[in-house]
Amino acid sequence: MFKTIRHALFCLVLTLGFATNPATADTNVAIVIHGGAGNIKAANLSPEQEARYKEKLQEARDRAYELLANGGKSIDAVILAITILEDSPLFNAGKGAVYNFEGEHDLDASIMEGKQQQAGAVAGVQTVKNPIKLARAVMEKSEHVFLSGRGAEAFAKQEQLELVDNRYFNTEGRYKSLQKAKKALLKTSWHEMDQNPEIDYKMGTVGAVALDKYGNIVAGTSTGGRTAKRFGRIGDSPVIGAGTWADNNSCGVSATGHGEYFIRFNVAADICARVKYQGLSIQEAADQVVRKELADINGSGGVIVLDSQGNVAYSYNSKGMYRAYKRNDTDQHVGIY
Ligand code: ASP
Repeated sequence: MFKTIRHALFCLVLTLGFATNPATADTNVAIVIHGGAGNIKAANLSPEQEARYKEKLQEARDRAYELLANGGKSIDAVILAITILEDSPLFNAGKGAVYNFEGEHDLDASIMEGKQQQAGAVAGVQTVKNPIKLARAVMEKSEHVFLSGRGAEAFAKQEQLELVDNRYFNTEGRYKSLQKAKKALLKTSWHEMDQNPEIDYKMGTVGAVALDKYGNIVAGTSTGGRTAKRFGRIGDSPVIGAGTWADNNSCGVSATGHGEYFIRFNVAADICARVKYQGLSIQEAADQVVRKELADINGSGGVIVLDSQGNVAYSYNSKGMYRAYKRNDTDQHVGIY
């Protein structure tokens, strides 16, 4: 009798355990976002600033999660999360984009879906309010994958996306960073400036990776690039494979950091290739690439990763990365350092 009760209790615990397992709850929908990696330290952020960043990350994450939990598609969740971050002056994308050397803003963005591995990307756009929406339009409405400059702008106009004057992207904080960078460049080389952990001229790129109830992974990234960048410079964010990647059979990745290194190491695709061909977990694969290979050559930055079971991983080799994820009401997180 006692044994039977014990057995029944054991079965109940097992059942409850499975019922609350995040991998099976909410048919696996999940969202993970970032707002850039870099030399972000508690000492450099006031409690009010920290609260503002966390609030905005939480808003983007929660609205995207709600959309997914209501049966929405991962592509719409990624666009929603990134648009919220692009519209905030806190991040180096859309409204808060950094200045190039000439004192203007050139924006890059990309998006990829993991079912058929369709992708869209734009580089060097100056008047598109939400470059991530243009990347989506390139993916869904053009026969191309990557448009740049004037052609991308003309396509945005054709697709009736919201256009703004380049001055819309002006913010005081980013302007000060440009002045600081220009001053530093009089005394030091680009390379030295990049290696100086006390200076950070590229922080705040945004990205999102989502998994919907249909099992599709979508990843997207949007950025203003790097402060004082040379006219025409394109970073990793709009480069499919480097800054953004999605494959339902392995994972989805959005990257942030020193773009030149991320392009050379094809970071986002390499992480998913390790998952696919070596059977690594997303955390192991991301750490190998970001904390070992990139760290070894001083390629600073980080990634967010999501797999088809809804597992989430962050990996960064910088001091901090603005980040958040949600898999269900009890499994969620917002962090900076
Ligand atoms: N990866 C971006 C670029 O190099 C910058 C960043 O993520 O902070 O353009």
